[in-house]
Amino acid sequence: MIERADSLGGTWRDNRYPGCACDIPSVLYSYSDQQNPDWTRAFAPQPEILDYMGAVAARHELERHIRYGHELLGADYDEARQLWAVRTSAGAFTARVLITAVGALADPSVPALTGLERFGGRAFHSARWDHDHDLSGRRVAVIGTGASAIQFVPEIVDRVEQLIVFQRTPPWVMPRGNPPIPPSWRRAFRRRPRLQRIVREAVFSLFESFHFGFRHPATGRAAQRRALGNIEHNVADPVLRAKLTPDYLLGCKRVLGSDTWYPALCRPNVDVVTDRIATVTEDGIVDGAGVHHEVDTIIFGTGFRVTDPPIADRVRGRGGVSLRESWKGSMQAYLGIAVHGFPNMIMLLGPNTGLGHNSVLLMIEAQLGYLRKLLRYRASHGLAAVEPTPQAQARFVTDVDRRTKGSVWTAGGCASWYLDTTGRNSTLWPDSVRAYRRRLARFQVTDWRGDPARPPLHSPPPPPAAPVATPAGS
Ligand code: NAP
Repeated sequence: MIERADSLGGTWRDNRYPGCACDIPSVLYSYSDQQNPDWTRAFAPQPEILDYMGAVAARHELERHIRYGHELLGADYDEARQLWAVRTSAGAFTARVLITAVGALADPSVPALTGLERFGGRAFHSARWDHDHDLSGRRVAVIGTGASAIQFVPEIVDRVEQLIVFQRTPPWVMPRGNPPIPPSWRRAFRRRPRLQRIVREAVFSLFESFHFGFRHPATGRAAQRRALGNIEHNVADPVLRAKLTPDYLLGCKRVLGSDTWYPALCRPNVDVVTDRIATVTEDGIVDGAGVHHEVDTIIFGTGFRVTDPPIADRVRGRGGVSLRESWKGSMQAYLGIAVHGFPNMIMLLGPNTGLGHNSVLLMIEAQLGYLRKLLRYRASHGLAAVEPTPQAQARFVTDVDRRTKGSVWTAGGCASWYLDTTGRNSTLWPDSVRAYRRRLARFQVTDWRGDPARPPLHSPPPPPAAPVATPAGS
């Protein structure tokens, strides 16, 4: 396992902003066979999730397999040797099978604002929080009002002198409630793990039901009324209320949950600016109405490079074609995990396997189960290279597009990072987790094409009766 950072944890290592927590209940946001009885809250804070990951890694002694400080520079499929040639910042490797597990929310997206380079204060992205920069008494601009901003704004609002929130599109925010899990429950979970599994199943079924409203927007109206009620209950000022009320259907963008976001925006030291950002100056931001907002700190809560992941330029399959070239502006993969032209490559959480309604860990587990089946098939059939057929990939993509049609993501009247520049949903799995699991439970041999091991270069051809060489396992 190669890892560019110097410790494990991915998004939960990188995102350390104040208030960072999971917005999916922890009982689901954990491995099905590695339940943690010690979660202190329904939605665990970031340090607990990072500790959990560390504990799982320690239990299975995973760190001895990890090469830290190894950034992937390029992975090229060598057709002659049927191997991946992997170049990293700290050396080169070859691999029979390449598994990408880079996550969709890894590389921060910072908008190229005019004049940003001349800003004389401190500017950072929420996923690269500068904890050395004391925010007490500062004049702070927050750009973006997504899942990250709604978590950190309430945490910093009382510390700063002035907070100016630049909002391009208001999110739908549901009341959340994040009750502590009483010690008696935690003891019970420890003594009787079956009890926690029952709770997990119940929470899973509840979250699965949300997906129905996304596929059939008319049924999501009740939830939208509840979210509207959340604004009315918390925001008395009609001008602010109007600014914070979305004009698109709930679910079109990720639905957020918070009990502290609206109260934070009602504080006297907070200003919500809905005019676009015109330019950044040495000591502030000028909005589209020409108003200069003086600030000494800018925090970007502007999300990640989701539909144009940097890895797409670094991975090259048969014929030296990169993922980006193969995708032509819209990511696609068979079952969301394998791409024609990229033999022996599996992407965890690849195109169309993100979720807006449930835990992605469930998707990853289904993908790992499928990977095991694929590797068994490859070994038992004496194949050195396996890849999905173009027909199977096209069928899957057509099926995804059919399931997306009429859903809130495309018909909800918003622009979101779920859709790429071609307007296609290339990020979300547009159905239930159960439907995805069913799809991956079956290994459809005819959807794959395989090549037996090639004889080594410059060696005499094998005698005609020789059996096909069986490659070593991976
Ligand atoms: P995000 O949801 O993509 O939100 C980015 C925000 O920045 C949006 O409000 C966006 O406005 C705004 N923005 C982007 N570019 C801008 C520009 N040039 N000018 C002005 N505003 C701009 O990013 P995020 O909040 O970091 O969250 C990303 C994802 O991470 C979430 O959707 C979620 O899946 C995940 N996340 C999860 C958790 C968790 O608890 N599990 C917590 C945090 C994040 P528009 O809406 O107009 O584009």
